[in-house]
Amino acid sequence: MEGAAAVAAERSPGVAVLLGQESARPAPCCPHGPTLLFVKISQGKEEGRRFYACSACRDRKDCNFFQWENEKVSEARLLARKEVNRNCRPSLSHRQNMERYKEFVLLPLSKRKFCQECQKLLLPMEWDKHSDHQVLHDLSVAHLQRPSQLLCPLENKKTNAQYLFADRSCQFLLDLIIALGFRRVLCVGTPRLHELIRLKASQEQESDVKSLLLDIDFRYSQFYTEEEFCHYNMFNHYFFGGEAAHEICRKFLHQEKGEGVILVTDPPFGGLVEPLAFSFKKLIAAWREVQGEDHSSKDLPIFWIFPYFFESRILEFFPGFSMMDYQVDYDNHALYKHGRTGRKQSPVRIFTNISPSMIVLPVEEGYRFCSVCQRYVSSGNQHCDICNSCTSKDGRRWNHCFLCKKCVKPSWIHCNTCNRCALPGHTCDRAKTSCFICDEAGHKRSTCPNLSVAERACQADRKRRLKKNKIKMDNVKRPSVKHATFPRKKIKKKKNTLAC
Ligand code: SAH
Ligand code: ZN
Ligand code: ZN
Ligand code: ZN
Ligand code: ZN
Repeated sequence: MEGAAAVAAERSPGVAVLLGQESARPAPCCPHGPTLLFVKISQGKEEGRRFYACSACRDRKDCNFFQWENEKVSEARLLARKEVNRNCRPSLSHRQNMERYKEFVLLPLSKRKFCQECQKLLLPMEWDKHSDHQVLHDLSVAHLQRPSQLLCPLENKKTNAQYLFADRSCQFLLDLIIALGFRRVLCVGTPRLHELIRLKASQEQESDVKSLLLDIDFRYSQFYTEEEFCHYNMFNHYFFGGEAAHEICRKFLHQEKGEGVILVTDPPFGGLVEPLAFSFKKLIAAWREVQGEDHSSKDLPIFWIFPYFFESRILEFFPGFSMMDYQVDYDNHALYKHGRTGRKQSPVRIFTNISPSMIVLPVEEGYRFCSVCQRYVSSGNQHCDICNSCTSKDGRRWNHCFLCKKCVKPSWIHCNTCNRCALPGHTCDRAKTSCFICDEAGHKRSTCPNLSVAERACQADRKRRLKKNKIKMDNVKRPSVKHATFPRKKIKKKKNTLAC
């Protein structure tokens, strides 16, 4: 991927991102750091002009930065852009938030308040300003130790997609990390895991696992020091806190000569895989700096948590990774959680470069060890003697198709027109377009039932919960660029502000 741009073209005619071009000309910045260079792709070829757009927001409503690659940008527009970027910055710095936190914890219980509308810890002199807001009272230490429960998840699926681990999945991850002997966890977009690690460390002396959280959700800077949390964009490897924050991350990776550290990440599922992979490779490279020449072949252990239908995409960038059968459950995700209303099967898996034979999955949750494959699999995942592996991806038993020469979903039958297995009643398409997200034929990314069903259910679930809690979340002042910038000053809209 070095040197020449990696043109990672998506299969459906769409937009590709061009990475590794920074040296040619630095990318312009939006409030989320350096933008990414995109190009329209048609039939595998670049089509039209290249353009810069926001790395983190897929919705122009969230960040409308746009600039043609070779566009001449006027002085006035540059100034306007600078102004927008400045206004998008949080009104309080991480350091200031820490000063406030120190003050806050000294207050007696009765004076510890949290404004749910502003998502902010309040100091007594600020109470007045929030008098007509929903305010939580009597914040205990236990509350403060669990910010992910205090803060309302930012569910905007096109940007934050904040889906928190269910307790048992989070506990499973931590137990696994400890069993594998890791002592440091770089949590990239996993605030709840970070929280659990710290909670454990405060409760039990013997568990001395350390954690550093990198996340774009700046609200966490109210609860964690600069050594515990960096405001970070994982789509462009950008540290909002500048070189000092970058250095904190590097130091964390370099402790104990880089031994005993693992990167655990759970990115928004709607995000592009290639910029994520590009960023993780930069984190790997930073970790390698401390290894001697002879260690250059060693790899930073990684858990990348992502839906199973992205398997081929992830393997494109990390061929050494394997996908575990473990199904990761979420609290606030209608379809991806267990329980009464949630469905039983979550499509979310762990991708890792740790040998699958080392990863023990809980038998009581329906996993078993396959002695042929030398790994734990879902109990429903039957070993196929022809494929010589446990082939199911979704936990159900798959059937071997002799024509396709592979195992397929139980609901599929072989279609002679398409020359492959598919759902009965599918529309045969000779154009052979398959979905970028789930790899199934007959639809495109934009109409993928695998993703959109989940998203729709999410919204329904959210509405239901909002009703229940009687909290008027719609009144929650959410910045238009949602994740990066809480709390913030009001953006003054300028008529001549073009991009961004
Ligand atoms: N399951 C995890 C949360 C995953 S949700 C847990 O329970 O800990 C995705 C996370 O990634 C959220 O915390 C969100 O704030 C963060 N995120 C979203 N976009 C990001 C970006 N561009 N850079 C860094 N973090 C991002
Ligand atoms: Zn097997
Ligand atoms: Zn088979
Ligand atoms: Zn078949
Ligand atoms: Zn067909």
